[in-house]
Amino acid sequence: MHDGAAATIGRYRPTGFPDRVRVIEVGPRDGFQAEAGWIPTARKTAIVNRLIGAGVPQLEVTSFVSPRAVPQLRDAAEVMAGADRSRGARLTALVPNARGAEAAAAARVDAMVVFVSASESHNLKNVNRSRADSLDGFETVCAIAREAGIPVHGAIATAFGCPFEADVATEAVVEIAGTFARLGMIGVTLGDTTGMATPPLVTDRCRALKAAVPDLEISLHFHNTRGVGLVNVYAGLTEGITTFESAVGGLGGCPFAPGATGNICTEDLVYLLDACGVETGIDLDALIGIARDVETLIGRTLPGQVMKAGPRLATSPLDAVATACG
Ligand code: ZN
Repeated sequence: MHDGAAATIGRYRPTGFPDRVRVIEVGPRDGFQAEAGWIPTARKTAIVNRLIGAGVPQLEVTSFVSPRAVPQLRDAAEVMAGADRSRGARLTALVPNARGAEAAAAARVDAMVVFVSASESHNLKNVNRSRADSLDGFETVCAIAREAGIPVHGAIATAFGCPFEADVATEAVVEIAGTFARLGMIGVTLGDTTGMATPPLVTDRCRALKAAVPDLEISLHFHNTRGVGLVNVYAGLTEGITTFESAVGGLGGCPFAPGATGNICTEDLVYLLDACGVETGIDLDALIGIARDVETLIGRTLPGQVMKAGPRLATSPLDAVATACG
């Protein structure tokens, strides 16, 4: 980077922003699980390993879910086995129950992720269980993980609103996070499953959790359903949050949430963080190349924007065909 540009960025890094952020890539799990067409195992592993090669420090690689529930991820163990561990990237997997926890432990995941919805209706629809039953089940998962020496993160879906119940109370989110802490989990992820988060809600949730469960690392997982995904990230950064989840190309969507669209896009997120002088350790150019290849792989246009426009300082030759620009 040009020295002058670096100085400008340093001078204007927004107040409260962290110097460095850990981006967690969830595309191979949250994105691929929503794809109807079978993605061959070798292709999945290749994408995971290219993401690791681009410097992504943590990935949600897959989900040890029943193959009947999510046929696309029936190769969870194989994809984990093929993942490149040489660069020290943290490889996690979603674990819905005790059976999944056993399989994830056998696959030597670096962390297990359990999930429950903040709203009762969404949890029933998503996993056919009440929230209380889901939380009860986490005790067994945590025991299996403890035995294997593997940490557990808890994720709260519909943490900013529910497509069936509208607003979700902050207290519901705080209460679940409190249970995570009591069960010995190391982090809490707030999932904006259907893109209902707004910057004030992000501020509200982050402050409530920092006060109630100060020992849990807070991660934010936004969807760009209503076009404010990165604005919500900005609100989280202002609160000093240092862990954000995103999917390459903006893959994803929840099959059980009407109108839900993709996760915020990893390249767009890294672009924003780079521009604000926040380090990620991720190579944006490499990420753009991966996003374009993922688009080809799944055969439809992805919502990512930087993958289409390129980095800000990418220049075109002067003799390139000019289009009518407004
Ligand atoms: Zn998601």
